[in-house]
Amino acid sequence: MSDCIFCAIASGDIPGRIVHETEHTLAFLDVNPLAPGHTLVIPKDHYARLDEVPADLSEELFGAVSDLVPRVEDAVDADATNVGINNGPAAGQEVDHVHVHIVPRFEGDGGAPIHAVAG
Ligand code: 5GP
Repeated sequence: MSDCIFCAIASGDIPGRIVHETEHTLAFLDVNPLAPGHTLVIPKDHYARLDEVPADLSEELFGAVSDLVPRVEDAVDADATNVGINNGPAAGQEVDHVHVHIVPRFEGDGGAPIHAVAG
């Protein structure tokens, strides 16, 4: 998609701080991190919503997420992570290209758990 910032990172047209790559997925640091090490994992091809992602690509995407979670935690000495997707504008999705957030968490950091949005 020509005006998609994450497509531009995936194609190398604009720089990203890449931390991991598989054949069809890419992981890079968030430009405006919620915590040190905040990482985004995307399919290289453009899909706006999670339900549009083909099953085999979804498996590759979440496989990459699973591989990355302990590595991200180790890299920033985090105690845990929030892993999540804002799936659609009403859920807070600002970039119209599926991306999984890996947000490192630290004991006592005072941040909200994901379930806080439903509270
Ligand atoms: P969303 O609200 O769509 O779930 O999250 C979009 C995320 O993308 C935000 O955390 C935002 O900081 C990040 N982001 C937006 N533009 C860029 C960019 O150009 N480069 C990188 N690395 N992250 C971006």
